[in-house]
Amino acid sequence: MSETTKTTGSCLCGDVTYEITGDPVFTAHCCCTDCQKASGADHITLAFYKDIQVNISGVLAEYSVIADSGNTNTRIFCPRCGGRLFGRNSVREGTIGVQVGSMDNPQNIKPAVVVYTKDKREWDVLSDEVTAFEASPPPGG
Ligand SMILES: [Zn+2]
Ligand SMILES: [Zn+2]
Repeated sequence: MSETTKTTGSCLCGDVTYEITGDPVFTAHCCCTDCQKASGADHITLAFYKDIQVNISGVLAEYSVIADSGNTNTRIFCPRCGGRLFGRNSVREGTIGVQVGSMDNPQNIKPAVVVYTKDKREWDVLSDEVTAFEASPPPGG
């Protein structure tokens, strides 16, 4: 754990930028069908931080859906280029998920788990080193 780790990132067009201080509290790949549709990719990778760790500048747009868990899942993106940057879940108040693909320097991010493997495409092969969950991770995960 290093309090001085600085991670920066942006959307594709650069209208939205952010800077993160410190390490993530949790990291995960998500293979759910909603993430597939929202991203256009076979899975996404998220690093979760406390809100106070993340400093965002730029105008954002968002789109919320009720996940199969019953929680509200909000996906946050740049309204100009459509680049998806963040996610919020009503079950994780005060926490923001940052899409690792939007980071400039994600070298020290190590996904801990993969969730929603029930929706994962067969050809989307992920490392055996991550713990796999069929759906949501267990409470507290
Ligand atoms: Zn943009
Ligand atoms: Zn998902």
